Amino acid sequence: MTDFVDVILPIPLQKAFTYYITEAEASFLKPGMRVAVPFGKSKIYTALVYKTHKTPPTVYEAKTIHQILDKEPLVTNKQIQHWQWIASYYMCSLGEVMRAAMPNAFILESETIISRNENQQVLDSDLKDDEFLIYEALHHQSSLKVADIVSILDKKRVLPILNGLVEKGVIKLQEEIYEKYTPKLVRYVRLHVNHKSEEKLQELLEILNRAKKQREVVLTLFQMEATSKKPVKLSELVAQSGASVAVVKTLIDKNILEDYHIQTDRVLFEGDLTSTSKQLNTFQTKAIDEITLQFKEKSVVLLHGVTSSGKTEIYIKLIEQQLAIGKQVLYLLPEIALTTQLVSRLQDYFGEQVTVFHSRYSGNERVEAWNNILENSSKAQIVIGARSALLLPFKTLGLIIVDEEHEQSYKQFDPAPRYHARDAAIVLANIFNAKTLLGTATPSLESYYNASEGKYGLVELNQRYNNVLMPEIELVDLADKYKRKRMKGHFSDRLIEEMTEALAEGFQVILFQNRRGFSPIVECTTCGHSPQCPNCDVSLTYHQYRDQLRCHYCGYNSAMLKSCQACGNVALDTKGFGTEQIEEEVKTLFPDNSVARMDLDTTRGKYGFEKLITRFEQKEIDILVGTQMLTKGLDFRFVKLVGILNADNLLNFPDFRAHERSYQLMAQVSGRAGRTDLRGKVLIQTYNPHHNILQQVSTNSYYEMYKEQLNDRYNYKYPPVFRLIKITLKHKDYNRVNIAADWYAKSLRQLFKSNVLGPEFPPVSRIRNLYHKNILIKIPPKQSLAKTKEAILKIDNSFMSVKDFRSVRVIINVDNY
Ligand code: ADP
Ligand code: ZN
Repeated sequence: MTDFVDVILPIPLQKAFTYYITEAEASFLKPGMRVAVPFGKSKIYTALVYKTHKTPPTVYEAKTIHQILDKEPLVTNKQIQHWQWIASYYMCSLGEVMRAAMPNAFILESETIISRNENQQVLDSDLKDDEFLIYEALHHQSSLKVADIVSILDKKRVLPILNGLVEKGVIKLQEEIYEKYTPKLVRYVRLHVNHKSEEKLQELLEILNRAKKQREVVLTLFQMEATSKKPVKLSELVAQSGASVAVVKTLIDKNILEDYHIQTDRVLFEGDLTSTSKQLNTFQTKAIDEITLQFKEKSVVLLHGVTSSGKTEIYIKLIEQQLAIGKQVLYLLPEIALTTQLVSRLQDYFGEQVTVFHSRYSGNERVEAWNNILENSSKAQIVIGARSALLLPFKTLGLIIVDEEHEQSYKQFDPAPRYHARDAAIVLANIFNAKTLLGTATPSLESYYNASEGKYGLVELNQRYNNVLMPEIELVDLADKYKRKRMKGHFSDRLIEEMTEALAEGFQVILFQNRRGFSPIVECTTCGHSPQCPNCDVSLTYHQYRDQLRCHYCGYNSAMLKSCQACGNVALDTKGFGTEQIEEEVKTLFPDNSVARMDLDTTRGKYGFEKLITRFEQKEIDILVGTQMLTKGLDFRFVKLVGILNADNLLNFPDFRAHERSYQLMAQVSGRAGRTDLRGKVLIQTYNPHHNILQQVSTNSYYEMYKEQLNDRYNYKYPPVFRLIKITLKHKDYNRVNIAADWYAKSLRQLFKSNVLGPEFPPVSRIRNLYHKNILIKIPPKQSLAKTKEAILKIDNSFMSVKDFRSVRVIINVDNY
């Protein structure tokens, strides 16, 4: 009997792929280990062992694996179980989940290795100049990479030359797998063994009497070793002794000192533990007691606590409890880059036990985090991260906290797996028999619905910490203000008055506008033409700072036009406004105050966001203008006023969740005001002051908003009552996408009748030169989700077998957001 292994390849294959293995390999391999396997014509991939067995594949001849890459599994069984759920629920391949889960550095790539063909006699005169250089280099080094050849020849196109050498039989090319992860080594120094004895040391110091600087270095090293009793880093020795690196190096060359390396983690916690957790107030204590009680019966609890009610302190207590019983905790956040405040708050309490899994970390930093979690190291007892942290190799998970559970960024949009991290978290917790706590001031309709149906427990916290009142919210009627000429630019007299007052009292102001750039539309005053993106079906946004027109969908940009492209007139006007324009207006209105802007354009780079936050915390900035980045759970002490410049474009967004989202966004931005002892104030400018959502925001009536929205969802058959699957077809040819979408929708309609909507072009129907068309399937509460998906997959298979449709991209999005 022969042995086989099924592997997961990091590509969108529907099935696992089977390879032939030896008996010895079969007894060594365990699920979750990596193997390198050939796939396709000449590629070698890193694959993950799924299972070993003795059944040969029926439709193809199994190849042998290339090599085994791990001694121990790198991926746990529980992870594979969880990934499987994701793949099947969100209708994608296990390989796509694997790709999303594993740090790049684990998915080794094959690289072409060039070596000399020893069997061939070569005459120098047979070789052209370039060929000779390579040939010669291979006499000094047994193998070279393509990149080496590029630098030897100082040419980009080296493959033809290499192929020529292969034909002449001079060299061999080989695909090799190599590790991308390189451990970080730190250089340490100590006294060379030759001088360790007392006697030798005296001798040494005498010799060094003539070399003052060197003597100083040696003495400093002694001192440091004596005081800290820890290995001494070369860099520290240089700093402490005041000598140059060259002096230390001379000592090493002379065998007086010796250097050595210790492998360290790239991300080290270097702060001090500054806090012990706070004494909870009676409301918080009651909330914790209720959460604990509910967890006895339910695996998920929703903590609905108003902004600044002290939810974070509650999480911290719950984390302490888990650590005390030796369990790991996963703390999920919508976007880790935007939550530096929270991360440092947790590090103040838990120090080294916190691992941050950061989207902006390098490959190597991710590898270290992965390994620490897999080993259940003391450094990885609390893992904080955005949605992908869910895919890490936990060992003893006891609790998952999903903070700001309503945030839509929990849903992955592109590429697959298009999973919702909150829902996938609940499944993960169940695999571990652990609990999930969802926390927010503005629950998603889905979660609140699940709570009212009794599926989740519900704990409510209506008091702000310290009994600070919820901010007072005032609606400003823009139509009236414009009519009575009470506007300066985009600022009403009320907003200016309140800003002036708050600033005069020494407080800070936050201004929210949901668009970045200067203005979203540029328009010719004569012919009405407005410049469009050549690749997408949207108008270009004017960015004044760079005097550019930019597309927010594909990144296309061009210099701002001097005249209209259509009629040549020079009078161009701008319509609508973004954060850039607001920032500029603030500068003219409040010339004596400092202003900063927080949006995608100002927070690029690893620490862009952090720097802005710190400056605002330290009151270097009086007025902060920003997009929804401002809403993400920030905790500032001196903000008294929040201004929302225009609520209408939030409310009018074409999406069935637009009203729910507007509520959440406005309530969250408002929550940034008056967080310590003074009551804050919020001004919302709008053309529709009587809009129900605005009334509900201003009276802090979450439950009313919920009831009304839920009613709409019932009536129009939307989540959380019905489920949704959205199918998007994309193609560069307009007609093809139309025909394909009609075919697809017609097939679906035969099964699901009137629960199929579309096909329809979305508001932006062409992005990056591809036309998009959407079909929506509504799934009634009683209809089996699994069967529905099966039927869709069948239709998808027949679709793919139509030759004309093969080039159409089909994207299936389950629980579409
Ligand atoms: P939320 O997460 O609900 O918005 P936070 O946990 O950020 O609220 O709490 C709001 C503010 O109140 C924070 O500055 C926090 O440090 C403070 N706070 C909350 N609970 C306590 C407590 N028990 N003792 C002292 N300060 C607290
Ligand atoms: Zn574009």
